[in-house]
Amino acid sequence: MGAPVIGRNKREKVCIVCEQQKQEGMFLFGHFLCLDCHQAIVHTNTDDPNYAFYVQQLRKMVTCKIYS
Ligand SMILES: [Zn+2]
Repeated sequence: MGAPVIGRNKREKVCIVCEQQKQEGMFLFGHFLCLDCHQAIVHTNTDDPNYAFYVQQLRKMVTCKIYS
């Protein structure tokens, strides 16, 4: 794990879900969500096992915001 330390000049776009650095994506709740994961979430059925994983990852960033 290990979230990147914030405090650098350039804002690193590391996806909250796949935890990889990506060029394209969007910021949600102050966290970066890459285009690939956004597409995956959109196209994943709610009864797909992967959906629970995405939701968990997204919930993580919302929780981070609350407790930070
Ligand atoms: Zn991603």
